[in-house]
Amino acid sequence: MKLMSPLPEIHVIVTKKILEMKENKIAEFNFKFINNIMACGKMLSKWKPFISDKCVLCNEDETQCHIIYECQIVNRLWQVISNVIGKRISLEDIAFGIELNRETNNLISQICYTIHKYWIIRVNEQNIISERHLIELAHSDLRFKCKVMKYLKEDGIAQQFKRALDNLVSGDRRIAHS
Ligand SMILES: [Zn+2]
Repeated sequence: MKLMSPLPEIHVIVTKKILEMKENKIAEFNFKFINNIMACGKMLSKWKPFISDKCVLCNEDETQCHIIYECQIVNRLWQVISNVIGKRISLEDIAFGIELNRETNNLISQICYTIHKYWIIRVNEQNIISERHLIELAHSDLRFKCKVMKYLKEDGIAQQFKRALDNLVSGDRRIAHS
């Protein structure tokens, strides 16, 4: 991962991306991403030759950063989430979340988890899923998680998820300028 600024203190990253996650499986996912051990083509192709180390859409090396942030298929999804947050989301926001509040880090981490879930479906079914399908997957995950967060009395996180949901529904394509 190419960093724009020096690596933040490890305890801050752990707090933001692991301890402040409401769901354990999302915290676990973040742990793997931070440690660069998330399943991706680049890694799996070393043991399973039938899995390509290149992205089938972009023909770039399929690293974890490519799957989650750089691939053309995730662009629109990140644009929508950037609109909701009012800030153009960077790879550093995704990995470290230093300048983001707990609600936003939970939202971003949920989106990352959904993108990776989409990637697993793509690899297992040997099927290229469209951008539309990815957006629908994010939509159904957020709708369900919004209910879960309300049930857990995490109203702030539920509200942030709801805002993302509404933006996905309205198909708002504006890109955050900041
Ligand atoms: Zn790609």
